[in-house]
Amino acid sequence: MPEPILDRDLHIKAIDAYIDPSVPRERAIITHGHADHARSGHGSVLATPDTISIMKVRYGEDCAGSFQPLPFGEPMAIDDLTITFFPAGHILGSAQVLVERGGQRVVVTGDYKRLRDRTAQPYELVECDLLVTEATFGLPVFQHPHPKVEIGRLLNSVRKQPERAHLIGSYALGKAQRVIALLRDAGYDDPIYLHGAMIRLCALYDELGVPLGDLRPATGVPKAELEGAIVIAPPSAIRDRWSRRFPDPVTCQASGWMSVKQRARQALVELPLVISDHCDWGELNQTIRETGAETVWVTHGREDALVYWCRQQGLTAEPLNIQGFEDDGGEGEE
Ligand SMILES: [Zn+2]
Ligand SMILES: [Zn+2]
Repeated sequence: MPEPILDRDLHIKAIDAYIDPSVPRERAIITHGHADHARSGHGSVLATPDTISIMKVRYGEDCAGSFQPLPFGEPMAIDDLTITFFPAGHILGSAQVLVERGGQRVVVTGDYKRLRDRTAQPYELVECDLLVTEATFGLPVFQHPHPKVEIGRLLNSVRKQPERAHLIGSYALGKAQRVIALLRDAGYDDPIYLHGAMIRLCALYDELGVPLGDLRPATGVPKAELEGAIVIAPPSAIRDRWSRRFPDPVTCQASGWMSVKQRARQALVELPLVISDHCDWGELNQTIRETGAETVWVTHGREDALVYWCRQQGLTAEPLNIQGFEDDGGEGEE
């Protein structure tokens, strides 16, 4: 393979732009709105319109010097280089970045998943020569159950314990809206109560065309009214004083990490829900094969097992050790 268009820091030298840089840069290309990918303080930001809206809600209107929206599937040419965004299926607006020059195709996945989810534009496979893939769940033990099964367990528990409130720890961006959409699609039409940290982002999803039904602030509601209710809150809130306002709460947490029993126990979660917005091991393998990439760089997670698997397949593979992509121990955004 010729010299790649971008280096191992995901820096595209020809246009001096970084993909998801962890420190402020003059030019940044942002795959999606999660805090370990989108940071404030860049000079100019190239991202999908939805990601730009999310960044403005989270960090403020002036969180970057300027914003350039690039819709999915519209190639943008800069000199002899072309950049195109394709849906990554991870959260609303999340993009894979295709960088092309002189017949060389490089795809940076950002975070992605392939299972359909109506809160995110559906993942599209993009063929390439070099694939830079995330590996959050890059171990063979990770095989995510279907989220419908997990939501079914939750609704069962709600039906069986009508006097208790179910508190679902979910990250404010992406997971909260996914859980709500899954509940609605399973036929749950009752009001869903929100912690204050969720309200603006849920409203934004609604504005951007993802209806989430009847959502109400959890604060100020009499305790008796919350018997049998479903409440969505950040994972930290379900364990602190905030949770005491609810009748005999059942603590739940929605996360891909909930398949690790030890983590669920440590987090004092009574009802763990394995709901992931990342590929599991099988999907990572499938994607690498289907892109046709001959070279794979693995980042953002469990790199070693996936690198080893790629080499077994006869591919050139190496881990990237990008600063700022800390192992979140299941407490980061996912
Ligand atoms: Zn993410
Ligand atoms: Zn991430």
